Amino acid sequence: MHVDFTARLYIRSAPIHPEGPTKTGYIYSIPIPPRPERRGILGIEGMKTRFLVRLCPALSIAPLLLFSGATLAEPCLRVTLTGTQGGPPVFNGQAGAGTLVQYGDSESSCSSVQLQFDTGRGTTQQLSKLGVPVEKLNAVFLTHMHSDHSEGLSDIAQLRWHFSSAGPKLDLVCSQDVETENGYTLSCNGFAEHIGDTLIASGEMAQRLSENPKRLTGGPADLLHVMAFENLPKAQQVWQLDDVKVSAIQSQHIGGHASYRVDTPAGSVVIGGDAGNDIPEPPRQSSTSEQVESLAMGADIVVHSVIHPVMGPDQGSGFPPPIYYRQSNALDLGALAKRTGTEYLMLTHLIPPLGAEKQGPYPIPGGALNEEDYRSAVLDSGYTGNTIVGTDLISIQIPAD
Ligand SMILES: [Zn+2]
Repeated sequence: MHVDFTARLYIRSAPIHPEGPTKTGYIYSIPIPPRPERRGILGIEGMKTRFLVRLCPALSIAPLLLFSGATLAEPCLRVTLTGTQGGPPVFNGQAGAGTLVQYGDSESSCSSVQLQFDTGRGTTQQLSKLGVPVEKLNAVFLTHMHSDHSEGLSDIAQLRWHFSSAGPKLDLVCSQDVETENGYTLSCNGFAEHIGDTLIASGEMAQRLSENPKRLTGGPADLLHVMAFENLPKAQQVWQLDDVKVSAIQSQHIGGHASYRVDTPAGSVVIGGDAGNDIPEPPRQSSTSEQVESLAMGADIVVHSVIHPVMGPDQGSGFPPPIYYRQSNALDLGALAKRTGTEYLMLTHLIPPLGAEKQGPYPIPGGALNEEDYRSAVLDSGYTGNTIVGTDLISIQIPAD
């Protein structure tokens, strides 16, 4: 299936809060100022004003514009699914799981701050289609140490080493090492430390260093600034740049799994990752994570991995029940979005993919699913918000322009 990038990228939502501020007070101890205040703040301190003054120092109108508010640029938040493939299989050229969150204003094309959540296969190609060079990413956040969410990071790190060894380093935000009951350790730190090892072992790094000694001698790992946080079942802020704040909360799937929330003056988005309920199998109230639900309360957008109920153990696909149960299903995600008052539910990491006859080796009972199959599973929950059945590079912007 060919994805029409230009059409997909700019599917824009209606303004979520057309009347201005609807949220004041605190969400997880993160203050969300009302819109008139933040417009003023941006107008005086933001890029638009500086841009005018810098380019037009002689213009006597500039001070008037400063105080009239005529040049105030509206803050905006854009969320783009860089990859929607569910799990390690490959299908139809889909990229691996990832979400790009951009914040800015009209002057910066909504891209002053650019954050990548998970870096599945092909993330760099997808970012290039979006016009986002990897050296412009401010930070990468990983939800967990599964390759379908992380393998694209080696490409990102290697590209930065090639062309941006002078820095800055890329913040890599993830949870601290987790030692499991089975004796193995899940380690984002270890992943980052060894991210360039195959290229070092092959001799390529030495060869390229001989061509350009300005590159860092330790290889791509030297360009990562790992910010590993203690994974807590309570939201905590783990990263911030100016008005953009990112919180994390521990959630179930595999050890060390974390879900994230980004709060900006333009809106908020939760990245659930592959989270599932803490209770590993029925009987339980829901397949979704209670921690993700607390994080998503009042959020504008929830991006979440989804599994369709057709892959359930009672449907005959043969899909392993423990793997089914550690994901959130479409019905339960709709119920979560309803409870949290979320306007936009973006389904990603679709198991099975749209149009696939199989999920890996497992046949889809009743044949391939389409968008409507996912949408109707969400609607069964009674959710009346907007469901976006994710395809690569689909995007939402708040407010729409
Ligand atoms: Zn996973």
